[in-house]
Amino acid sequence: MINLILFGKPGAGKGTQAAFLKKRYELVHISTGDLFRNHIQNKTDLGTLAQSYMDKGDLVPDQVTINMLEQEVAQNPAAKGFIFDGFPRTTAQAQALDGFLRSLNMQISGTLALEADDDLLVGRLLKRGETSGRTDDQDEAKIRNRFEEYNTKTAPLKDYYQAQNKFFTIDGVGEISEITARLEAVVDQLK
Ligand code: AMP
Repeated sequence: MINLILFGKPGAGKGTQAAFLKKRYELVHISTGDLFRNHIQNKTDLGTLAQSYMDKGDLVPDQVTINMLEQEVAQNPAAKGFIFDGFPRTTAQAQALDGFLRSLNMQISGTLALEADDDLLVGRLLKRGETSGRTDDQDEAKIRNRFEEYNTKTAPLKDYYQAQNKFFTIDGVGEISEITARLEAVVDQLK
């Protein structure tokens, strides 16, 4: 079984690359951002709650996010493995994920961090915002706040996974196919 975390700032290419890795290694792709957006679309209570944070570019509270993620994993008992995209984003989430996976006799194989400059990421996100309809991609102040959330709450996870020898940095700049090849080279060593 192979369980990957795709790590990186908003716009780093996690969703795009997850789509390739999912096919290549037959994994279940779980994006907490997509799950929240589905809840918002379906007008659930969780969606209403999540939206109030997402609209500002703030993180949704840990326990809400962790519960949603655990439910999603539990709904895929036959999975050959998972790609976690946009989760964990805080140390509390990482600890909860480790504990939860352990309880299922599973573990994280590796955390793949896609790296690119902030200015390049802002450009990518504003461009995505033209077609995605995502209001959090259409306003530079919200984008910068998402980076701030990342820097303060998510970036420390690098140390968390490095301490477990599970952190791999991948250059996230270039053609999509080149970046996929860089990721595959790392994943193939984890198998
Ligand atoms: P994303 O699609 O991954 O860029 O996520 C969009 C938004 O959803 C984020 O800016 C957060 O408000 C929320 N979100 C997604 N994943 C998480 C998470 N793991 N923890 C907290 N909030 C999250």
